[in-house]
Amino acid sequence: MTEKTLSNISSEENLRLLVEGKLPYEEVKKLIRMDVKDEDRFWKYLRILQARVPWGDKILLRIGDHLYIVLNAGNQRVVKCDCGHEFGDYRQNWKLNALLHVRKTPEEFLEIRPIGFASPDHEMAEVREFYCPGCVTQLAVEVVPHGYPFLFEMLPDLDTFYRDILGQPLPGGSTDKEPLADKSAELTSTWAAGQQDRQGGEQ
Ligand SMILES: [Zn+2]
Repeated sequence: MTEKTLSNISSEENLRLLVEGKLPYEEVKKLIRMDVKDEDRFWKYLRILQARVPWGDKILLRIGDHLYIVLNAGNQRVVKCDCGHEFGDYRQNWKLNALLHVRKTPEEFLEIRPIGFASPDHEMAEVREFYCPGCVTQLAVEVVPHGYPFLFEMLPDLDTFYRDILGQPLPGGSTDKEPLADKSAELTSTWAAGQQDRQGGEQ
């Protein structure tokens, strides 16, 4: 395969069509089967994503159909919906700040899984649907045992990825003093503290 053919297959236009789900399958297969991937593909991908959102915060990584980790105006790495709603620090599970609908009964399961035997066992599991408070788009669905903590689907090591894989370290990255860690409990502990304050006030 010549260099020219390679660059045609992985052109920014083709990648844009891929992101939009419009690239013909034959072309998708060629992209997948390239022996040597184009080194700047991630940067092309980011440019395509950036052009599709209505805000200017720099996208660092896409983590879902509608969700991105961005560097916001306050220079913080936060999870942001394509509508512009911010969910907070990317090291805290964004689901904790989403709208939640829980299905627990067989009747509620049948509304989304019309074939009864293919539904989860309602005595064992529940269906959780997470929606954006800004645009009410459904962002995730999880089927888990009752009481199970929200699944934290993605906590990427952005600094290692940008530094070691892309060769362009991000400013203000994690340090040995404060290594990358799940900080969801910091958020829920503020809720618990608020609860205690309220209880204290009622006494
Ligand atoms: Zn949204």
